[in-house]
Amino acid sequence: MEAFICSQCGTQFGESAQQPSSCPICEDERQFVRHGGQEWTTLDRLARDHHNRIEDEAPRLLGIGTEPEFAIGQRALLLQSPGGNLLWDCISLLDGETVAAVNARGGIRAIAISHPHFYSSMIEWAERFDAQIFLHAADREWVMRKSPRIKFWDGATLSLWDDLTLINCGAHFEGGTVLHWPAGANGKGALLTGDIITVVQDRRYVSFMRSYPNYIPAGPTALRRIVQRIEPFSFNQIYGGWWQANVLSDAKAAVARSAERYLRAISS
Ligand SMILES: [Zn+2]
Ligand SMILES: [Zn+2]
Repeated sequence: MEAFICSQCGTQFGESAQQPSSCPICEDERQFVRHGGQEWTTLDRLARDHHNRIEDEAPRLLGIGTEPEFAIGQRALLLQSPGGNLLWDCISLLDGETVAAVNARGGIRAIAISHPHFYSSMIEWAERFDAQIFLHAADREWVMRKSPRIKFWDGATLSLWDDLTLINCGAHFEGGTVLHWPAGANGKGALLTGDIITVVQDRRYVSFMRSYPNYIPAGPTALRRIVQRIEPFSFNQIYGGWWQANVLSDAKAAVARSAERYLRAISS
């Protein structure tokens, strides 16, 4: 029995004797199946020719991403907080060096993930660090490896420790979640967003899509809900889902002007 990992989206499936017949996450309209056909790997095979780059994105915010790039190429963030560390988003590869680096910074109290494209090997990480996983219940159907470590939450927000708050924004996925970190950005606050609010090439702007690879836009109702859900929270920075995909100043205004620009573009 092996826990196979989809090579296109990086999702690890529950143990099976044979490779799964398909990957529902890649067959969904928001992703795509490899042009050469569905391919699978395992954690052991992945570790043979990949390693993790481990580098600070900001003080108390450690980036962890796989090299050479694997699947979607995201990096996770280890947010180091006095009440315990939170792993924001996740990646497929977990190896000994990564475990040592994370333990040197105090381990992981819990994992929270923005949406199913970053579920990756979350159960491996949760088991290794004895951590709970917070996922929004609206995306329950996309969990490919079940575990009692997953705690599904419902509604608009979930308060964690040290005033950390998970905020359900939707759009890209119904359960799409961002994390508010009030102590981030030197106490001015930061949002960790994955690609629920995605930081674009022009770092003064963000964007919002139902599908990024297939260019399916989000609609006006979904967009207004994002803006409304984050309105009560103060933040000056946004950390997106990839290395250096960050808005480092005036981020709340960046979301507002980006949403206005987007609404103009889809209504003209
Ligand atoms: Zn897949
Ligand atoms: Zn995604």
